[in-house]
Amino acid sequence: MIERDLIIVGGGPAGLSAAKIALESGISVTIIERASMLGGQLVKQTHKFFGSKAQYAKTRGIDIATILINALSEHKDKLEILTDATVVAMYKDYVLTVYSGHEYKKYHAKGVIMATGASEKVLAFENNDLPGIYGAGAVQTLMNLYGVLPGKEVVMVGSGNIGLIVSYQLIQAGVKVKALVEAADHIGGYLVHASKLVRLGVPILTKTTVKKAYGKTRLEKIDIVKLDDSWNMIEGSEETIECDALCVSVGLTPLHQLMSMAGIEMIYVNELGGLIPKKNEAYETSMPRIYAAGDVTGIEEASSAMVEGKIAGLMASKDLGFKHPEYDRLEKELLTQLHVLRQGPMGDKIRIGLVKAGETV
Ligand SMILES: Cc1cc2nc3c(=O)[nH]c(=O)nc-3n(C[C@H](O)[C@H](O)[C@H](O)COP(=O)(O)OP(=O)(O)OC[C@H]3O[C@@H](n4cnc5c(N)ncnc54)[C@H](O)[C@@H]3O)c2cc1C
Repeated sequence: MIERDLIIVGGGPAGLSAAKIALESGISVTIIERASMLGGQLVKQTHKFFGSKAQYAKTRGIDIATILINALSEHKDKLEILTDATVVAMYKDYVLTVYSGHEYKKYHAKGVIMATGASEKVLAFENNDLPGIYGAGAVQTLMNLYGVLPGKEVVMVGSGNIGLIVSYQLIQAGVKVKALVEAADHIGGYLVHASKLVRLGVPILTKTTVKKAYGKTRLEKIDIVKLDDSWNMIEGSEETIECDALCVSVGLTPLHQLMSMAGIEMIYVNELGGLIPKKNEAYETSMPRIYAAGDVTGIEEASSAMVEGKIAGLMASKDLGFKHPEYDRLEKELLTQLHVLRQGPMGDKIRIGLVKAGETV
């Protein structure tokens, strides 16, 4: 059994921010990340972020990842980073099973911060498993990390920010985006992203969904269909679009499985993406000394994931006997930042979700 003080599962913006504050507090930290590099979703985000200066607005996601990783370098003596290492199990006795290099190893931690992020949701329609049908996040990884195009003619499903941004990046990469279909009667993401697509000639079809995909060995075409006010398909409104790739961007769902496995109390909140851990104001779950931050506690944005990570790092270190020298100032400042990030109409859904989860907003 390998003994550690504080283990952080997931090296995305939440995990990296938690690590920074915990290291400043003086505790030893182990980050366990299943990918071959740190950064989480940020490593594929080549666009500049919105938001406030404190959360690196106007900086590209990939550059934010570098900033967060570099910020850990002054604490190397107390930091252990395991990449290509997946936590495959977590138990009630604070033991984590880690799979890495074709080996399973057991770690025991005094405290754990879960920052595993989220996975993409899928859409149910006939033949939705044909090669050429991707999650939009997967397409962003293929293009921006590996330089691989998903196809030549693409249809995007979902008009949230991810659907809008990935459509624009597909066009920048020389791909034809034939249409963006959206089941709701309005565009979900920022209109500034949507208007760029409209200016480039991409039709945004609201109250529309995908009915069926066709193809022998890979995607060749799809049928789209109009939806009525009760979201039922309108017979006879089908239209066929020839395309060799379909990107599905219909939301993300928190990667709660390790916490569920450890018996941590969960709650289903539709507005926050699905099952999330119940947690108190100190970001502690129902299992003492297991904390959670970022998208795994509800789908928001990288900005709030970073702030939540810092709060979890601050609280976990204090509980484990390492109070940050600027604890009082940071606690107040971070809670205010989170409050500000969740204001305005774009924060409506999150605030409703948090209330349902029993949290103070
Ligand atoms: C396509 C796309 C575009 C986006 N654009 C923006 C934007 O413009 N602005 C913005 O603010 N937000 C944006 N977001 C949202 C933002 O990226 C996320 O909210 C943010 O990355 C969440 O941070 P996180 O640390 O909680 O999770 P993640 O970034 O998902 O990091 C979680 C990490 O945990 C690791 N992990 C998961 N399970 C395990 C395990 N069992 N063992 C070990 N490691 C594990 C994962 O590999 C990952 O590295 C976008 C998201 C996507 C998908």
